[in-house]
Amino acid sequence: MKNYSVLHILELYHIYKGMDKQEKKNFYQHKCDYYQFFVKIIIIMASLASLSYLVSDYQLNRHALMPTFVPRTSILVPLLFYIILEARAKNYKVKIFLNYLMLNLIVLATIWSVYHLEIKTHFSEGATIMNFLFLICCLGSSPRSGILGYGAFFAEILLSHSFNHYENLNVILSLNIPCFGAIMLAHCMLDLGELDHYLTSMKLEQALITDPLTNVYNRHKMYRLIQDNQLIAHEEPVSMIMLDIDYFKKINDTHGHYAGDQALHYLGETLMREIAESGTVIRFGGEEFVIILPGCPPEKACERAESLRKKIALSEKTPVKFTISAGVVKYNGNFKESIKAVDHALYRAKESGRNQVFWIPEIQNEVI
Ligand code: GH3
Ligand code: MG
Ligand code: MG
Repeated sequence: MKNYSVLHILELYHIYKGMDKQEKKNFYQHKCDYYQFFVKIIIIMASLASLSYLVSDYQLNRHALMPTFVPRTSILVPLLFYIILEARAKNYKVKIFLNYLMLNLIVLATIWSVYHLEIKTHFSEGATIMNFLFLICCLGSSPRSGILGYGAFFAEILLSHSFNHYENLNVILSLNIPCFGAIMLAHCMLDLGELDHYLTSMKLEQALITDPLTNVYNRHKMYRLIQDNQLIAHEEPVSMIMLDIDYFKKINDTHGHYAGDQALHYLGETLMREIAESGTVIRFGGEEFVIILPGCPPEKACERAESLRKKIALSEKTPVKFTISAGVVKYNGNFKESIKAVDHALYRAKESGRNQVFWIPEIQNEVI
């Protein structure tokens, strides 16, 4: 459990201020994705609950139902559109817009109903209740959208005064303006608390897919790439390299496991430096790595693997001298088949004497 202090909140604000546009977008998309379901359900429930005001309208209008029947039930039309459009929207900005639009339409339906009421002073209670909904809406949105969406509520009250002539406009405003201040403050605080959770979850997420010894990705990342079909979505052609340290067991036996670990760390660093910008590096097994290169034909992948092989073989900075062997294939759209083929290519490189790169275009047909 974390105990928040003013200092911690200020620190989070400092982090927030330092985030660039894209980081903020990612954060708000994450926040909206997490809370939107709850916000949507509450907005739907609130829209339906607003129909129950027909009972109090009936009492205020001396047992006449019809005057506010159409205004109250009119909310069902936008509600239907809200449900359809919200389900289709993916972008957080669209979802937030729809949420605030729906809340403001509840306000407008209420204003329209109040127009048909003989006693209009009770609008102050209805308007005050709306604050709860604007507070709920904060969960999935940004403070800036909150100010706009919530601010429209005040504009509607003031504009509707021209035809509803609220006797107690001062009371309505004096009840709602402090609520606005408190809710916007709560919104900012909730945002920073959410940012804290977001940053923690991002760190955990990164730790989950990163191999701690070599700092390259681990198999979790690979499973995600397959699950999300990202390899297919990548620009064609996609090449795969599988590389492995030669006689690694001997290195461990001769120089000890610590030296072996250092060699692995060095290899991971080198692969990240050379590949990270154009591909994905995964520690596939003990001293076996898979490199995925989107938009790279296998001939080019061979050149890159060969350049890596030379760099490692000639490096003076390695903790222990070692060499690598590599197999290369063109990704054929099927992960299992391609891994089998690249593993076979690596086997052929080992078989041919190690410290070399192996690729023949027919290898996939040979294996599959
Ligand atoms: P080959 O040239 O055929 O690849 O021979 P090899 O000795 O490299 O292959 P082998 O599969 O027989 O040995 C792999 C060794 O890698 C065995 C295992 O102890 C070692 N290993 C696996 N993971 C780690 C690790 O994280 N740290 C260290 N130090 N050694 C590891
Ligand atoms: Mg090996
Ligand atoms: Mg191996």
